[in-house]
Amino acid sequence: MTISSIDSLLGKLGVTLDGYAGSDIHSISPIDGKLLASLKADSTSIIERRIQEAHQAYLAWRTVPAPRRGELIRLFGEELRTYKHELGQLVTLEAGKILQEGLGEVQEMIDICDFAVGLSRQLYGLTIASERPGHRMMEQWHPAGAVGIISAFNFPVAVWAWNAALAIVCGDSVIWKPSEKTPLTAIATQTLFIKAAQRFGSDAPAALTQLIIGGRDSGAQMVADHRVALVSATGSTRMGKQVAEVCAKRLARSILELGGNNAMIVAPSADLEMAVRAIIFSAVGTAGQRCTTLRRLFVHQSIYDTLVPRLKKIYEGLPIGNPLTSGTLVGPLIDEMAYNNLQKTIDQAIGQGAKISGGHRIDVAGYEKGFYVRPAIAELSAPADIMQHETFAPLMYIVPYNDLQQAIDWNNNVPQGLSSSIFTTDMREAELFVSAAGSDCGIANVNIGPSGAEIGGAFGGEKETGGGRESGSDAWKAYMRRTTNTFNYSHALPLAQGISFDI
Ligand code: NAD
Repeated sequence: MTISSIDSLLGKLGVTLDGYAGSDIHSISPIDGKLLASLKADSTSIIERRIQEAHQAYLAWRTVPAPRRGELIRLFGEELRTYKHELGQLVTLEAGKILQEGLGEVQEMIDICDFAVGLSRQLYGLTIASERPGHRMMEQWHPAGAVGIISAFNFPVAVWAWNAALAIVCGDSVIWKPSEKTPLTAIATQTLFIKAAQRFGSDAPAALTQLIIGGRDSGAQMVADHRVALVSATGSTRMGKQVAEVCAKRLARSILELGGNNAMIVAPSADLEMAVRAIIFSAVGTAGQRCTTLRRLFVHQSIYDTLVPRLKKIYEGLPIGNPLTSGTLVGPLIDEMAYNNLQKTIDQAIGQGAKISGGHRIDVAGYEKGFYVRPAIAELSAPADIMQHETFAPLMYIVPYNDLQQAIDWNNNVPQGLSSSIFTTDMREAELFVSAAGSDCGIANVNIGPSGAEIGGAFGGEKETGGGRESGSDAWKAYMRRTTNTFNYSHALPLAQGISFDI
């Protein structure tokens, strides 16, 4: 697979860019800095039309039985299976993650489709005992409306699928504003969805899934629109605060999946072989550009001198380069801005007492315009202010600790609350870490790293991570509206709470 084969790759996926050509949005491959395509941004009037069409599509789709809606997602899952390799390659070309992770991202889309198909027969409500004789109460879950999805560059297609697969079986329509850095993967995904919808038949409205190509303003227009019943936004905390404010003003629902600042504690009893593998994957996978990337490592001082030199040695030998080449473990950063941000953070960390290894730019022959870096380690004797911030690059802070409670406090003492983990074989330590008095994150793992979630669990985090939950468990409830129904099959009209109101 070469980078120059973008046209044939798009061709295999059935993508034609004819209707999209323009000069507003530029898809640039982080692998070599070359332009993949230039596209036009949708105008405000086109966005307005797309939202209206999505609203109309919802009005029709909500009456299609849920198991039938599941059939559409089953067919979409089939398309993804057929084109897994091509879409995975496109993810790698546009987002720069290694091919294994590009394929993994598409597999995650397939997994959530399977989950959603089963869910389409399990959208259960409760039956509730009434306090009044001859009465019965029940609740139903109904479709909520058009769901606006905003996604970030680092999971250019999976995040959409987590939301869209659930929303569609729940009877909603979908409007997607992908990252302006990864529009091609979005167009390809939309193309595959349309293929599935054509196979499904005429009860799938043509406008069931809408795509908006554009930047922040396009996303902001969608968020402000009252016809968008739910906004599910994934990206930086900066973006989430803006979206939350607009949603709050119109009292709209939102799911916010924002920045993380994830920690791992390595306790004295840890299986260090496993811990090393988990640390390396969590800290340098996706070149440190996952929301769940390991950013803060707290190592018990009794094992610090065994573990940390080993990590540093592995860091020095990590294969860095073209993410399409097999054997590469670290691909490029998304762009120059990400690189500059990493350098600025490293300077600040040094100013706060950190001892740095790595972090410098690597020249990869033939790909000089890509921003490749040796992943960095910043050793500190105690947590520093800089560790309060998420730096979206492969920079891991390491701090020794004495006492588990101290390490748990450090884990929690940041504005973000996405993912966390502990390596220990001491049952008391493990239980404390996941208890109410332990990690305050949405994800708290034992003996695996903080990164690499499965779709079966609800995904999301607390505090400045936004509080939203997507994907598995009962996250589907956010995409529906609940109605409570009381039926009276008696010949009397007793009032609740025994109130007497005789006329
Ligand atoms: P970003 O915030 O720059 O952009 C994300 C998306 O938001 C883009 O589509 C962008 O156009 C849109 N956007 C920005 N401002 C907006 C506004 N005011 N109104 C509407 N839309 C707006 O983020 P990024 O650089 O693409 O992604 C990296 C960030 O995303 C990191 O902070 C990472 O932790 C976070 N992230 C979080 C999760 C999660 O599930 N918690 C998953 C992936 C990424």
